[in-house]
Parts: sequence; structure tokens; C-alpha cells
Amino acid sequence: MTHVNTAAAERRERILRAAVHQGLLAPDRADLAAFLDLDGVAASVTALHEAFPDPPGVLHTFAAKANCLVPVLRELRTLGMGCEVAGAGELAQALAAGFAPDRIVFDSPAKTRSELARALELGVAVNADNFQELDRIDEILALRPSASRIGVRVNPQVGGGDIAETSTATATSKFGIALDDEGSRRRLLDAYRARPWLTWVHAHVGSQGCPLELIAEGIARAVAFADEVGPTHGRRQVRGVDVGGGLPVNFGDDETVPGFDAYVRCVRSRVPRLFGGRYRLVTEFGRSLLAKNGFTAARVEYTKTSGGRPVAITHAGAQVAARTVFTPSSWPLRISAHGPDGSRRAGEPVPQDIAGPCCFAGDLLARARPLPLLAPGDIVCLLDTGAYYASTPFHYNSLPDPAVHGVRVDAHGGITFEPLRRAETLEDVLARTGG
Ligand SMILES: *Cc1c(COP(=O)(O)O)cnc(C)c1O
Repeated sequence: MTHVNTAAAERRERILRAAVHQGLLAPDRADLAAFLDLDGVAASVTALHEAFPDPPGVLHTFAAKANCLVPVLRELRTLGMGCEVAGAGELAQALAAGFAPDRIVFDSPAKTRSELARALELGVAVNADNFQELDRIDEILALRPSASRIGVRVNPQVGGGDIAETSTATATSKFGIALDDEGSRRRLLDAYRARPWLTWVHAHVGSQGCPLELIAEGIARAVAFADEVGPTHGRRQVRGVDVGGGLPVNFGDDETVPGFDAYVRCVRSRVPRLFGGRYRLVTEFGRSLLAKNGFTAARVEYTKTSGGRPVAITHAGAQVAARTVFTPSSWPLRISAHGPDGSRRAGEPVPQDIAGPCCFAGDLLARARPLPLLAPGDIVCLLDTGAYYASTPFHYNSLPDPAVHGVRVDAHGGITFEPLRRAETLEDVLARTGG
């Protein structure tokens, strides 16, 4: 484990030094930038594919909200992934990245009529969230047939994990059709029987903070429901189960635990028949594919002490790490300290506050974090931020979105960067603020 940690830390340090050397992190010009290790992404996708036995017809989709940058989606497509989207914006991004419509899955609790019509016209798979949405789909299909695979998101009501905001299968969750509410299962079974085109069942139990056993239990209940639909007109109606995503990520060190193999072992032991070839499968992982392959680097602009505690004011705060800043106990991040050239800082750890640039007191990435004492011009790296961080900005104080760079390391250790998103200019900021 130490070995894993050392290798990963050394790789990041080499990438950071190269980034400084190549001017991607330059004081006053580029004080904040995010990096995504594309070799690491490829390895994560391979681990996902290898973890699943290969019954024909497993479609692994990437949840676009975890990192919606079009070049990232394009990279994932070339690695063999499909794409899960939740809205017209993400659908446009997926199409721009070149995903074939039948490799896109559209989930959202608030699909508009026109979004539904477009998805059904394109042949994008759709998971309906509620009974009213099914009525809308009826109306659209009455006008023209669709090649889309259509399912319903069920809420297996297995309860929540450690983080309420990312637990989607609680008794009162806003998502899907609650299976155990009075009369609900009966009504849903009737809805399936009345609609022979409803051929999929979808469940996404939750994301970070949900233990594997909870996810497996949710999937088991969704599969039991699929079995319950039974055959209509002599053939099995439900052809596939979309099991969602949600494999939790270890933000504590560089180990990738649990892995996709542990996920499959856990689900398989709880629901063996899911892998028996009876159902086609879709998965929708986001965070677990990307989080550990990214980091965000920020310059330290100033340092001082306040109430006796050292404070480093950096250029990374709520604008790139909203969840960490607003709910630090649920979303703590590791931070590494580097000198101006990117080399790791040595020195006695001193408890320091690592602050961001936003004008509110709580804009802290870490409180009293023991790190070598930082100085102006140093760099801090927020680790494991490849998903749901720089790609999901928060536009407080009109701070511009930073550049995101893809990174590849060749067999000789040569490091190349490629743009995944350029930094916003002041013109961009004005444009999005009505200027
Ligand atoms: C967010 C989401 C996912 C991905 O969750 P991760 O925790 O990033 O794996 C998958 N499916 C649905 C419906 C989602 O909302």
C-alpha cells in the first residue's frame, strides 16, 4: 500500500513539475489548473470491463455529470464506454463526443416533453422517473414509434448511506417509483403490462457513502421486480436491468478500494441470476472511473496567521470544490504541498488552514491541516478531484473556470498535456453574466 501511495505521489509530482515547466501553472497567469491522467482513466475503464464477466450485452455507460467535458467524454467513448445523461445539455455533450444514440441512456427526474420527444426520436435509451412521465411517453409514441430502450427507474427503498445528499434509495427519495409504498408496486406492474415497450428496469441506489451491500440489496429488489413483471403475450417482457452507478471512492489514500471486482463479487453473491444471461445489463459509473485520476493545482498567493493559526490563501476554493467547502465532513480532500517548481515540499507538518479566494469566511479547503509550512508562490494540490470538481464549477465571485489538462506519460516517462478545457477569459465571464 505504501508502495502504491509512493508511486502515485511520484507520478503526480512529475506531472506537476512538467506542468510548471511548460507554463501551465504560471504565477499571475495560470494560478489554478486541473489535470486528468488519461492513462489512469484508461486503466480504470479496463478494470471496469474486466470485473464484469462478459455476458453479451453489458453496456457500461459513464455518468456525464461526473465530468461533462466533451473531450473527456470522447476519450471514454474511444475506450468503449457509453454515456448516461440527465438533461438536454449533457445529451448535447454526449452527441458532440460522438456517442451513438443507442449507447446513451437518458435519466433525469425532470425530463421535459421536448427532451423526451428528442431522445425517443434519436433512439436514446430512456428511464422514466414517474407515472406522469410514462403518460407523456405514451403520447409521444402514439405519434411515432421509437427504437429507444425504455425502462422505469424504481426506488427500492433500501435506505441511505453515510451522505444523505447522495443517497437516492431512501424511503422518501425524490427519484423513481417507490416500490414499497402502498399500492405502488401493483400500479407499476399494471403500467408494465399495459405497455409492452417497457422492457427495462433501472435502479441507482446512491453514490459516495453507500456501502456495497446496500447497493447490492437495491439491485436485488430491482431484479425481483423485473422478475415479477413476468411474461406478456408469451415472451419475457423485461429484457434488461440498468443497475446505476455509485461505487464509492476512497478519498483517504492512493489505494483504489473497493474496486469494480469487489462490486461485482458483492452484487453477484446477492443476486447471482443478474449474471446468468437472463437480463442484459447497463451500468452507470461516474466518480469511481475518474476521481482518483485527477488533481487540481493552485498557487498560494499569500500566507499569514490569524488567531495564531497559519492560513494559506490559495486560488482554489468553493468555485472548484463546492462540496468540500460546504460539507467538509462528507467530502474531505487530501492536499499535498509543493514548492514553486512543483517539487514536493519537505518540512515539519504545521497545522494550517488552506483557504480559497472566495469572499466568504467558510471558503476553506481544509482546517488546521498538518502540512509543511506554505509560502507565497508554493502550490497546493487537491487530490482525487477527477470527478465532480473542476468540471462542476460554482460561479461565486465571478471567478473564471480554470483550464483542465489531459495528461499522458509515455514509456520513457515523457509527459504530454492536451487541452480538455481552456481557462475562461474575462470575456467569457462577461458573456455568461449578461455583459
Ligand atoms: C450520478 C448518477 C450516477 C453516477 O454516480 P457515481 O456515484 O458518480 O458513480 C449514475 N446514475 C444516475 C442515475 C446518477 O444520477
